[in-house]
Amino acid sequence: MFMNRRLCQHGNDCLIFPGNLQSKPFGISYISINEVDKTAHIITLTLYIMRTILKMMMAATTLLTAACSNAQNKTENNRKMSEQTKPNPYYSRTDTNKLTVSNEEWKKLLPADVYRIARLAGTEYAFSGKYWKTDVKGMYYCVVCGNPLFKSGAKFASSCGWPSFYETIRPNSVEYLQDDSHGMSRIEVRCGRCESHLGHIFDDGPAPTFKRFCMNSAVLDFEPGE
Ligand SMILES: [Zn+2]
Repeated sequence: MFMNRRLCQHGNDCLIFPGNLQSKPFGISYISINEVDKTAHIITLTLYIMRTILKMMMAATTLLTAACSNAQNKTENNRKMSEQTKPNPYYSRTDTNKLTVSNEEWKKLLPADVYRIARLAGTEYAFSGKYWKTDVKGMYYCVVCGNPLFKSGAKFASSCGWPSFYETIRPNSVEYLQDDSHGMSRIEVRCGRCESHLGHIFDDGPAPTFKRFCMNSAVLDFEPGE
């Protein structure tokens, strides 16, 4: 009742006594308006500083949390990259010896998408691979073990969405297995050295073999050349 409100210089409400109560109407001594004003301003300023410090602490906490999250993501990415770039001791373009390596070990050496297709007989989406429409001259190797598979001269334009070849480099570059999965009867093509799944073979290819080796780009390693 004895108080009035007005804006102080800090832009906050500041409580002071109105000037007409500086007298002693009830015989009570009031402190002077200057002292009250000064005290009120000090309290207001203190509260203002405390609020500012609190806001700064909250902002710092938010920034720290974001920085920690970014650092964790970078660490995770680096871990994935180091996993994917771990040297593959079985890769050789000249060694023709058959490999007997467990999927458990391949999983440590191969990028996730290559492992899924090569070792778990997966299939990449049509028109999504990097080699389905390329006609650059060179050689195609098994990306898992380096086994030479196809020459670019045996590649032909196919509308199927996967890189297609009419013959392999050597008859034993690949091996064939009956595949009755997904309600279809197909012939699966696997690498002749590491037995990784490469794709399937069909009888609708061009001359001279009339075969179509329908391969996954993800399991091919291409080296440009004549
Ligand atoms: Zn292979």
